[in-house]
Amino acid sequence: MREPGTLGQKTSVVVLGAGISGLSSALTLLKRGYRVTVLERGAVGGESSWAGGGILSPLLPWDYAEPLSGLALRSMAGYADWVKAIEAMSGCVAEYWRCGMHVLGVAQPAPALAWCKAHGLTAQLTQTHPDGSLWLPDIAQVRNPRLVAALRAAVLQRGGTVHEHCTATGVLAQRGRVTAVQTTADTLYADSVVLATGAWSGLGLTGLAAMPKIRPIRGQMLLFKLAPGTLDTILYRNGLYLIPRLDGHVLVGSTLEDAGFDKSTDDATRQRLHAEAAELLPALADTQPVQHWAGLRPGSPDNIPVIDRHPDFENVFINAGHYRYGVTLAPASAELLVDVMEGNVPALDPAPYRWQAALERHWAAL
Ligand SMILES: Cc1cc2nc3c(=O)[nH]c(=O)nc-3n(C[C@H](O)[C@H](O)[C@H](O)COP(=O)(O)OP(=O)(O)OC[C@H]3O[C@@H](n4cnc5c(N)ncnc54)[C@H](O)[C@@H]3O)c2cc1C
Repeated sequence: MREPGTLGQKTSVVVLGAGISGLSSALTLLKRGYRVTVLERGAVGGESSWAGGGILSPLLPWDYAEPLSGLALRSMAGYADWVKAIEAMSGCVAEYWRCGMHVLGVAQPAPALAWCKAHGLTAQLTQTHPDGSLWLPDIAQVRNPRLVAALRAAVLQRGGTVHEHCTATGVLAQRGRVTAVQTTADTLYADSVVLATGAWSGLGLTGLAAMPKIRPIRGQMLLFKLAPGTLDTILYRNGLYLIPRLDGHVLVGSTLEDAGFDKSTDDATRQRLHAEAAELLPALADTQPVQHWAGLRPGSPDNIPVIDRHPDFENVFINAGHYRYGVTLAPASAELLVDVMEGNVPALDPAPYRWQAALERHWAAL
């Protein structure tokens, strides 16, 4: 059994999962003086955190329950500085870009505008679409695979350890406390454990059976390469979005599919996404996608993540279930998690993110 030392530092935390939730939790813990080991079953950031689009906002911000909006707005307010600090620590560039978002075809612009005003989000009605089109100039994006790479480098730079290709299989426990995490290769002592296993969080581990409602929701994405500057804002209409990157790549997404852990893609979806995207950006009509992939979002009822202590183990915590907005929610979620772990009064009311609250919510139809 491996026993990590505790030289001059606080207790040791083992974080399960190296997506954006696990890495941002790890970095926050390291900053507060903990010794952190991250275990990742595959490659760092190789799942949803790689597959996603990196829009830093709910797609229709006015359409969600307050617990999701509250966490999102807190993250969004501090995101630029958060990324800047990670870039400074890591020497990596994450391509944070306040490119704005055009939301076309808003059925009821007046309440949407009122919501934005009440929540401090700049929004303007524009005339580019007969049904109502809103321009949200402050919406930003990040190139999520690059952010994950930067986070990993920052975690290592702060003294954290990351083990890739290392699957957590179970825990050892005594008197309501987990004492160690078992992996396919080893057993690791832990003073505390954080579950950040994304879409797999609902599965549990041996010895850690009870899990909140989290299940995989597949999303397919297309990637195009155009000349830089062809598109310079995010476009959204009726469930479809286009995200420009600084180098001319354009992402098109996405689907919401209940397909279990199957990450396959299909031609019918590729054709549909391509055709709908070309309606919004005609330059795409004669261009073939350079890539087509699917990722598994950690789906949760009402899109509200679970950030709490495990009901049966006082030293086990969870930061998972961020569904469609885990990139957006990462900074505020990590902050809330560590505040819950330390027993601090968090900046946001923690009640909606509790384990029990998640159990009481119901799945809506996709
Ligand atoms: C198509 C698509 C588009 C998206 N677009 C956006 C967007 O524009 N903006 C936004 O904010 N969000 C977006 N999202 C959502 C966002 O990507 C996710 O909410 C976020 O990445 C979840 O991060 P995570 O770290 O919780 O999960 P993941 O990134 O999936 O990480 C969980 C990790 O845990 C590991 N793991 C699982 N079980 C174990 C185990 N037993 N032992 C060790 N490791 C384990 C997995 O291998 C995985 O790497 C999108 C998602 C998809 C799929």
